[in-house]
Amino acid sequence: MSAVSSTSETQDVINAQLMEIIREARGGTRKSKEMEAIGRFADSALTLKYQKNTLRTVRSLLQQIQCIRDTSDLSYIIGSLILRGIPTPLYVYAGPEDKNTNVWRLHFIPGFVGLPSEEYYKGKGPGGMNTLRSYKKLLKIVGEAFDIEEMNKVLEIEKRLSKYINSSLVYDPPVISQATLKRKYPAINWDSLLSGLQIDDRKKSKYVVDAPQFLAILNNMVAKLDLSAWKLLLSANILIYHLPIMEPPFDTYYFNFYRHQLRGDRAKPSNEYVLLDLAKKYLMIPLGIEYIKRHVPQGHKKEVRELVDKLIVSAKERISDTEWMDISTRKVAQEKVDGIILGILYPDISYKYKVPDLTSDDLAENLMRINISMSHWQMEDVKHKLTYKVWTNLIYNVNAHYYPNGNRLVIPAGIANWPYYCSKAPLGWNYGGLGGVIGHEMTHAFDVNGKEFDAKGEYADWWKDADDRMYGKISKDLVKLFNKSKYMGHPVNGKKTLSENIADLGGLAIALGGLEREIKRLRVDDMGRLEALRNFFIAYAATWREKERREKGLQALLTDVHAPAEMRVNLIVPHFQEWYDAFDVKPNHKLYITPDERIRIF
Ligand SMILES: [Zn+2]
Repeated sequence: MSAVSSTSETQDVINAQLMEIIREARGGTRKSKEMEAIGRFADSALTLKYQKNTLRTVRSLLQQIQCIRDTSDLSYIIGSLILRGIPTPLYVYAGPEDKNTNVWRLHFIPGFVGLPSEEYYKGKGPGGMNTLRSYKKLLKIVGEAFDIEEMNKVLEIEKRLSKYINSSLVYDPPVISQATLKRKYPAINWDSLLSGLQIDDRKKSKYVVDAPQFLAILNNMVAKLDLSAWKLLLSANILIYHLPIMEPPFDTYYFNFYRHQLRGDRAKPSNEYVLLDLAKKYLMIPLGIEYIKRHVPQGHKKEVRELVDKLIVSAKERISDTEWMDISTRKVAQEKVDGIILGILYPDISYKYKVPDLTSDDLAENLMRINISMSHWQMEDVKHKLTYKVWTNLIYNVNAHYYPNGNRLVIPAGIANWPYYCSKAPLGWNYGGLGGVIGHEMTHAFDVNGKEFDAKGEYADWWKDADDRMYGKISKDLVKLFNKSKYMGHPVNGKKTLSENIADLGGLAIALGGLEREIKRLRVDDMGRLEALRNFFIAYAATWREKERREKGLQALLTDVHAPAEMRVNLIVPHFQEWYDAFDVKPNHKLYITPDERIRIF
């Protein structure tokens, strides 16, 4: 473990429930097609003698790389690896256009490099040059085990790509035809790449280039880099992806570098835990279906829906009181709240997804089969426009998401659990717990990124210039506040974490507003109100309690857009008078902020 938190505690409980389902499926009780798939998958992962088969599958993938003769082969292999879910420098997914959410396209975005961010390649990440040396060593040792010499040479290529991996997506990206794709990025053989991806009607289609600068660099690399360098790079991608599921010592190499050195984990996870992690990701639909059957009570969805509805009312009220915003902007903002497409606990319609036939004796092969079927499912989905009704979020995961594109909010069943939510919790608790999370996600509709999209979730300019100026001005105070704070001796980046901090501040306001309305509706007296407020803030703080390893914490400062959990509570609650009322906080207390320094954005 690299951290313990409320999220991980809640997830542990759910993980145990999922593990029970897997054991049941392994034990032979396979009453549904879902259980059959889970059972076979688990057999392929946990039967030690089958680990050899994974090695065989990896070797055959590496052989395909060795057979690349020209850029057409190279482009085809990149497409076919992406289809199989194996990372490459390029990634392709199906999603809506920025300006028209009814039209779904294939998107090209930056894919994978072996280290978390650009800083690591410069030796400026946590652990400095030492981390870089370890990575180099890992590549060398693993490469040699598969007769690939000097695989560590990929470091230089990855370094060039790393600049674009985390930060090159543009707003309103170009939507272009295949002819334009070929003209602008001529070194990549697009016919081959798309056929590797098994995309049919490609002549008619248009594509979204979300990171034009990155694609230009990739095109350049296809043109200039010799094929032997490409072979090394793709081989490294294949090997790193499979390391955790390979037999010892490969899984240990993976753990030592990626989990221990980069994240501070102390103990290597058991094979069962590795299986669970994979099953959660790869069997998301069958496992999700079995999980709902057993662990999501009837009526739970309705309850959470009621909470969401109350928060929607509160959010609209907050917006109408947001004086720095032009009246007309406030009106559209309220429409945007009303327009949010909600996904609550689990999808309302059944997934039209067929689990592929799985083998009982080759995990790597199973991962590929599942990825291919999921890719096809998503492409089909593009045609049938089912995508907002079924979601690809893991319903048993403890988190929530807001998607500006499409104006969608997804609250998976996993997070509607203690300490976030409990049907029997005292007044205030659920508002400070799950309510805070939902308010946070709603506010993402208006953070620096979300505000670029309108009520339909389409890229549009609906703010007045004066709104933007005021927003920028108030946001600056929040940036300054976070810039001043330090975590593990290192500064927090106020600008990088701004959107999340806005969401925390706005989210707590929405949740608190919802609670105050509920207090009025229930005619709770003053003493009862203070108690509800205390429950509210204690629940909020409880959901963020966390203890993490230094390695993980430092990596997060560089790569995570969220501020450290501690700041998400201590730098947020002092902006609310209700917190002072609830705990009788006085000017001599540590977290006290004078009323005129308190920030209110929404
Ligand atoms: Zn967020």
